[in-house]
Amino acid sequence: MKINFIDLQAQYQAYKEEIDREVGEVMASAQFIGGPKLQKLESDLAAYTGAAHAIGCSSGTDALLLALMALDIKAGDEVITTPFTFIATAEVIAFLGAKAVFVDIDEATYNIDAALIEDAITERTKAIIPVSLYGQCADMDAVNAIAAKHGLPVIEDACQSFGAEYKGKKSCNLSTIGCTSFFPSKPLGAYGDGGAVFTSDDALAEKIRMLLNHGQNERYKHKYIGINGRLDAIQAAVLNVKLAHFDDEVEARMRIGAAYSGKLANANVVTPAVMEERTSVYAQYSVRVKHREAVAAALNAKGIPTAVHYPMPLHLQEAFAPLGYKPGDFPVSERVSEEIMSLPMSPYLTAEQQDFIVTALEENA
Ligand SMILES: *Cc1c(COP(=O)(O)O)cnc(C)c1O
Repeated sequence: MKINFIDLQAQYQAYKEEIDREVGEVMASAQFIGGPKLQKLESDLAAYTGAAHAIGCSSGTDALLLALMALDIKAGDEVITTPFTFIATAEVIAFLGAKAVFVDIDEATYNIDAALIEDAITERTKAIIPVSLYGQCADMDAVNAIAAKHGLPVIEDACQSFGAEYKGKKSCNLSTIGCTSFFPSKPLGAYGDGGAVFTSDDALAEKIRMLLNHGQNERYKHKYIGINGRLDAIQAAVLNVKLAHFDDEVEARMRIGAAYSGKLANANVVTPAVMEERTSVYAQYSVRVKHREAVAAALNAKGIPTAVHYPMPLHLQEAFAPLGYKPGDFPVSERVSEEIMSLPMSPYLTAEQQDFIVTALEENA
C-alpha cells in the first residue's frame, strides 16, 4: 500500500480545474504582486476568522517577524514563548536582537503551560507568543488574562492551527495578533511559501501593511525600516480555491484525527488530547511512543512514512546556546521531544490506509 505523509497530489487532483483556471488568470493578467486575487483572499481570510484585518505575507516566519516589528520589539526586550515548537517562533525574536525566554509546555496539549508564564515575566518582557501546536489552540484565555494583568500583547503562533476553534472563536483571532503559515504542508497550504497576519487593531494592521512593503506609506516614501514580505498573486489564487473547500477539509481532518484516536485505543501509544471547547485541525497527528526509532523503522519497512515534530527542543539548539539554557531546564519539552512521532495525516487518508497504519502500530509499538 502506498501512503503519503501528506497527500498533496490527491488534493491537487481534486481541485485541479479550479486551481489551473485561477492561476491561469494571474498569468494572463500579468498582475503578479497585489491585485484582485490577493484582495479577495485577505477579505475572505478576515471573514473566515472574524478578525477585522487579514494581511497576506511571504511566510509564517515573516508573519511572526512582522508582528514583533509592529510591536517595536528590539534589543534588550524579552519575549516569552515555548521551546517545543518549530524554530521560527523563537528565531524571529533573536533576529530582532531580543531575548527568547522559554516556558515549559503542558503535558496534555504540548502547548505553553500558562501556569508557568507569570514567573517568567520581568520588567523587560514585551510580548508573549503561545504556539497552537499540531492544530490545537493553546489555552488562550489563560494566556490573555496573564498578559492583560501585565499590559502585554499576545501573538498567537497559529502556523499549524488555521481553522481550529477555541471556545467558538477561530484561531488567529484570539489575541492581539495572530500569525499563520501557508507553507504547502500546513492545513491551508499554498504552492510555495506564504503566510498571513491577523489583527483587529486598525493601527497595528496599517503598520504591518507598511512594514511588509519596505515601510512604505506612499510610493517611495518610507516611514519605517521594513522588509519585502509580500504574498504574491499566484499563491493568493491557489489559496482562494483551497479556502473555498477548507470547511470540508477541516471536517475531514477532524473526522480522521478522531478515528485515529479511537482505533489506536489498544495500541501502546499516547494519542493527542483535544481539550473541552477546542477543536484540532491536526496539522500533525502526533502520538508518543517508547523506542521511537525502532517503531519508526518498523513502520517505514511497511511503507508508512513518519516524522518527528520536533526532535530537539529549542533551548538545546546550538543556535540558542547564547541564551545559556541547559538540559533539564524544560523537562516536559525534553521528554515529549524524545517520544513524539507524527503519523501520515491528510483529508485524503482513506480508512483502509488508516487501518493499515493502526495495525502496524499495534504490532510494533
Ligand atoms: C511552519 C511554522 C512556522 C513557520 O512558517 P513558514 O511559513 O514555514 O515560515 C512557524 N511556527 C510554527 C509553529 C510552524 O509550524
